Amino acid sequence: MKSIILGVLFATGIYSASAQRSAPDVLQTKMGPLTIQPIQHASLILTVNGLTIYADPTGVANYKGLQPPDIILITDIHGDHFDVNTIDSIKKPGTLLIVPQVVADKLPAADKDHMVVLKNGDNTTQSGISIGAIPMYNLPESPTAMHTKGRGNGYVLGIGGKRIYLSGDTQGIPEMRSLKDIDVAFVCMNLPYTMDVKEAADAVLAFRPKIVYPYHYRGRNGLSDINEFKNLVETGDKNIDVRLRNWYPGK
Ligand code: ZN
Repeated sequence: MKSIILGVLFATGIYSASAQRSAPDVLQTKMGPLTIQPIQHASLILTVNGLTIYADPTGVANYKGLQPPDIILITDIHGDHFDVNTIDSIKKPGTLLIVPQVVADKLPAADKDHMVVLKNGDNTTQSGISIGAIPMYNLPESPTAMHTKGRGNGYVLGIGGKRIYLSGDTQGIPEMRSLKDIDVAFVCMNLPYTMDVKEAADAVLAFRPKIVYPYHYRGRNGLSDINEFKNLVETGDKNIDVRLRNWYPGK
């Protein structure tokens, strides 16, 4: 019987993804415990006080059996961050979408009723969570860059007195390096799309989050060396908690 159930789960792809998914971390906040669940690549789920926030959900199977989102944050238009079909499949009535304008332009008209469009520098507060949009872009700035300044959003969330930073796809831009009082940072590192681990470590050592998760680290030539990133950060500041998790389950 057990093998039949496992067989069904494997066939549906549920078992393989969830079996290797990293266990969630929990951070105490004034709103209660904040659960941080890595999903894959750029996607994660934050849960606090009954509120569920998805970042960059792609791939319907990755979210099977999980609590549906109250809020979905989208950083940019690329397929590893934004998929209309995934959003359509996982959302529930009332799910709020927080998006840059370029993403809003690609969503169905029906979604516009429960959407907040943020441009770089904008802020909103939803269900007691503050959400600020900050730039994410490649250096040097160029109109032909994969990520041009002003198009996508990194996000800084204020949750029960803790500040959570999602880098989106970016290099070690001044806006990242000058961040203050970040408790948890999710920082990308993959070439040729964002930056290498040295640049990411250097940027992290500039803004010194309490906890940092390397995420979005699969590049054109495979996975970046996140152990090197951890060594560089810990050599620079042993008080920064570098958390390596499996962002590529089932691979
Ligand atoms: Zn990306």
